[in-house]
Amino acid sequence: MRKQDDLMRGGIGFTSERTRERLIQRMREEGVTNERVLDVIRLTPRHLFVDEALAHRAYEDTALPIGHNQTISQPFIVAHMSERLLEAGPLDKVLEIGTGSGYQTAILAQLVERVFSVERIKVLQDRAKERLAALNLRNVVFRWGDGWEGWPALAPYNGIIVTAVASEVPQALLDQLAPGGRMVIPVGAVGEVQQLMLIVREEHGFSRRVLASVRFVPLLHGPLA
Ligand code: SAH
Repeated sequence: MRKQDDLMRGGIGFTSERTRERLIQRMREEGVTNERVLDVIRLTPRHLFVDEALAHRAYEDTALPIGHNQTISQPFIVAHMSERLLEAGPLDKVLEIGTGSGYQTAILAQLVERVFSVERIKVLQDRAKERLAALNLRNVVFRWGDGWEGWPALAPYNGIIVTAVASEVPQALLDQLAPGGRMVIPVGAVGEVQQLMLIVREEHGFSRRVLASVRFVPLLHGPLA
C-alpha cells in the first residue's frame, strides 16, 4: 500500500495538498458525502490526466480539454456519478462508456472490483491505458469500440456509467444491466439542458430518476482510429 500511496501522490510537489483539499471541501459543500469517493479523489493525481500546459488547472472544479474535441469531466460530476452508482452497495463489475482521459476510470478502479471501459477514439484510449498502468491500477480492461453497443461479451454488469450525452438510453446498455444493476447516464441533446439519469433494473422493468442538469459532449457513433 505504501508504494501505491507514493504512486498516487505522483508529483504532489506540483500541486500542494492544500489545493486538493480545497477541491474536496468544495465537493462537500455541493453535497458529496461518500467518504470513500472523496478519499479516492483526494489521492488521485488529476494533473496527470491533462496536458502539461493545463496541469496547473487540474484541481479546479471544471472540465478541461483533452484534445479531439473531448473534455475531462468536472471533478464534482465524477464524484456525483460515482456516489450515485455506489449508493446501493459495493459493485464488482462496472462498464464505463467514454474512457476519455481515463480519469473517471481511475476513480472507479479504486472503488469497485473490475472496470470495463469502452472508448471510440483509439489515441485517447492508448493514453488512458498508459496513465492507469503508471498508477498501477490493474483491474481495468479497455475496449476500442462503439459504446452504443456496450460490451455484450462480458455482460451483465452491476453498474454502467456513461460519460457522454446520449439522445436516448441505448437499448444495448439496458440489456446488459444485471438484475438490481444501476446505470448513471446523461440524456439529452448537445447545447440543450441535459439530464443526468439514474436507471435501476428492477424485478419487472426499469426505474428512472433524474439526478441533475448537466452538460456533456455527445455520445457519437462508431469507432475512430
Ligand atoms: N470520463 C472522461 C470523459 C471524456 S469525454 C474523462 O473524464 O476524461 C467523453 C468521451 O466519450 C470521449 O472520450 C469520447 O470520445 C467518448 N465517446 C463518445 N461517443 C462514444 C461512443 N459511442 N463509444 C465510446 N466512447 C465514446
